[in-house]
Amino acid sequence: MTNKPAQATLLPDNIAALTAYSSAKSEKISGNTWLNANESPYTKEACIEIRALNRYPDPQPQVVIDAYSTYASVDSDQVIMTRGADEGIELLVRTYCEPAKDRISLFLPTYGMYKVTADTHNVQINSLSQDLLLNGEVKDIINAVSGSKLVFICNPNNPTGAVTSVEKIAELTKSLANKAIVVVDEAYIEFSESYSCALLIKDFDNLVVLRTLSKAFALAGLRTGFMLGAKNTLAPVRKVIAPYPVSTVVAQIAANALCSDAITQMRRQVVILNKAKATLIDWLEQSPAVSKILSGEGNFVTLQLKDKALLTLATNTGLIMRPFKLYNQDNWLRISIGNEQELKSVKDWLNAISAQV
Ligand SMILES: *Cc1c(COP(=O)(O)O)cnc(C)c1O
Repeated sequence: MTNKPAQATLLPDNIAALTAYSSAKSEKISGNTWLNANESPYTKEACIEIRALNRYPDPQPQVVIDAYSTYASVDSDQVIMTRGADEGIELLVRTYCEPAKDRISLFLPTYGMYKVTADTHNVQINSLSQDLLLNGEVKDIINAVSGSKLVFICNPNNPTGAVTSVEKIAELTKSLANKAIVVVDEAYIEFSESYSCALLIKDFDNLVVLRTLSKAFALAGLRTGFMLGAKNTLAPVRKVIAPYPVSTVVAQIAANALCSDAITQMRRQVVILNKAKATLIDWLEQSPAVSKILSGEGNFVTLQLKDKALLTLATNTGLIMRPFKLYNQDNWLRISIGNEQELKSVKDWLNAISAQV
């Protein structure tokens, strides 16, 4: 007798092979300083007044769609509201990729959900390198992605912070017309707005931009993102998305977050966080415990420790940061930019480990 449940024989191979997404939250790690998930340190409160929860919500709340289209400088029929950018990734794979046949391209190291989503839907992955994306010629990149339905470009890239120029993405998109959709994940774009590709949407049918309220907008708990793209490109996605993806409550909070005062406040917070990042980079550069720093755009810094064991002291004191295996080495660490007090905890830890090496 095996101890496999009877249903295991019903599972498709690709589902049986999955490992569940693991985070500090899902692992129930205890901590007091959370710098592991690139969340904003700014807490947001919401006053909501809901009168009619007996009715289904507007599938795509017009007030939110209009506010976001204004914010992103695109037309309102070029916007779909999703449950986070993660749902945007999933919708694109489900809409455009045929299981067991199609494939997607990604540039490693990058955000983990592209692979998780592709694996879930039995879609093949063409793994390319960030080095090719950043330093390769457009024609070489086009060759390397050939045969992919979707080409994911995380810009700025998580976890390296690297950015690809708008011009290069435009060239790639142009060369891939009628061959592939270029998906630019702009989860961190508010931290370096000039890199946004949203303005290219009017020129290219095969470009989709993913956005979120989880990072600079400080609303990770709300689960709200946006997909931006040409009307024709989004039309099939509208057939695949759940009938009522956005709750009435979420729509109201998102609408408030996108009023002009709230956007001004978000931009002020971004300035403060970008300054704090520069300070953190200074500290890291001075630490003998740190061997390499990938300082790019975004509200995080990724670094390599001289020794992975140096992280234990942080975890033991409740300072939670995100360990990574990058370039086949397991001593990388990503630190999210928190508030002054949270970064003070990082400084204390750095002082302690610097004395150890
Ligand atoms: C955080 C993150 C997301 C997820 O955003 P949600 O809107 O919270 O689903 C998507 N892409 C990247 C690159 C991220 O870092």
